[in-house]
Amino acid sequence: MTLTLPEVAAEAADCTKCGLAEGRTQVVFGMGNPQADLMFVGEGPGAEEDKQGLPFVGRSGKLLDRLMAEEIGLTRDSCYIANVVKCRPPDNRDPKPDEIDACRPWLEQQVELIAPRVVVTLGNFSSKLLLDTKTGITKLRGQSYPMPNTDAVIIPTYHPAAVLRGGGLQEAQMRSDLVRARMAMSG
Ligand code: URA
Repeated sequence: MTLTLPEVAAEAADCTKCGLAEGRTQVVFGMGNPQADLMFVGEGPGAEEDKQGLPFVGRSGKLLDRLMAEEIGLTRDSCYIANVVKCRPPDNRDPKPDEIDACRPWLEQQVELIAPRVVVTLGNFSSKLLLDTKTGITKLRGQSYPMPNTDAVIIPTYHPAAVLRGGGLQEAQMRSDLVRARMAMSG
């Protein structure tokens, strides 16, 4: 029997498949419209996300909200936002390969149940995972790719934290990637 998204989220809330379970306040499963045409996939929760239980609610999230409104005309409630790992890595370190592997089935179930038309991967971790490649984001971004085993397309772009650090050029490139996402949704 296929589970619904809230049922999968309820299962994930007790997950102990990797060591990140020990340090988390709560699992940050994802948020938004379970029937969304557009899905964003980030890296993993930070401190604020861990506290609130919601993805991208800190500084990076504010930038994501603004760029998605300005370039796609959507709010976070009309799309779906998730991460590669659902629990906060201690001290905001990068997620480790075994943690990504352990968490991967949750993301796969989210993609299968939401069945988005377009998946925007934010930064290296989600782009490399979902495109099954070792190529970095700087090379990957700027075009769209068929998503393996689905009817969706993947549009890789920078992580908003990298745009906050990097400034104007990266922001302009992220904006053009989001325009590509808007066009892919209507195409
Ligand atoms: N960075 C991410 O990758 N995900 C979040 O949810 C917040 C910050």
